[in-house]
Amino acid sequence: MQNRSLSGKTALVTGSTSGIGLGIAQALAAQGAHILFNGFGDAAAIDQLQKDTAQQYGVRTGYSGADMSKPAEIAQMMSEATEQFGGVDILINNAGIQHVAKVEDFPIERWDAVIAINLSSAFHTTRLALPIMQKNNWGRIINIASVHGLVGSSGKSAYVAAKHGLIGLTKVTALENAQTGITCNAICPGWVLTPLVQKQVDARAHDKSLTQEAAKRELLMEKQPSGEFVTPEQLGELAVFLCSPAASQVRGAAWNMDGGWAAQ
Ligand code: NAD
Repeated sequence: MQNRSLSGKTALVTGSTSGIGLGIAQALAAQGAHILFNGFGDAAAIDQLQKDTAQQYGVRTGYSGADMSKPAEIAQMMSEATEQFGGVDILINNAGIQHVAKVEDFPIERWDAVIAINLSSAFHTTRLALPIMQKNNWGRIINIASVHGLVGSSGKSAYVAAKHGLIGLTKVTALENAQTGITCNAICPGWVLTPLVQKQVDARAHDKSLTQEAAKRELLMEKQPSGEFVTPEQLGELAVFLCSPAASQVRGAAWNMDGGWAAQ
């Protein structure tokens, strides 16, 4: 466990009990970063996840169950991060939800929830993490946007609006800290087979009477030219790169890893 690139750093990964956030948390832990997990799930499983990560990678772990739709709970999580770890060096804004409906049918409550969790939560974590990063003159903020931060798709108005907004927040945060050791970038994944996407596969299989495999294939081939899912492990390695000294001049980028989706 010698010479790991992120030894001594602390990473907060929102929405890291599942999917992409979990993959990124594990990749950062493998480089020696202490991990503060966040997200929903079974309490015993989350406890085990913390213990397994600490043991496997020799890092400290913690957990906050803060709801990313609630600014007061986000503030509480950031205070706990300062008390327990002395602050957050690497902030990964990853928590997100999806809802699919046409604009005229979109439930107002779902719109508000998607904007709060996928966009506003990143503003709150960022504004509270920056003062300590600025004091240390080092920080990495990585916003998990989406290829839907770059292009639209029917039925996803709230999600597409939130992810385009998140890329805007990324650019401004990068610019305001451009002459410091703090960088802010967005990662824009294409389809990744996580529980969030599995729900969309299930809906397609049900609506069109397709097998799971056929529904996955159809979903991919509509948008993602490679015909293959991006993996949480690949996204984790990109996050590790963005935390490295080699990426210190990558600032305000929206970096897609999408099997060619946005190249079309
Ligand atoms: P997921 O459903 O597997 O995981 C989402 C995580 O967010 C979970 O840990 C969940 O508990 C947490 N979460 C949800 N609501 C929360 C809340 N209110 N407060 C705190 N935590 C909350 O989803 P995923 O596919 O891993 O998505 C992670 C991020 O990646 C999201 O922002 C998503 O928009 C983005 N993304 C996913 C894909 C994809 O194809 N899966 C593609 C592009 C972008």
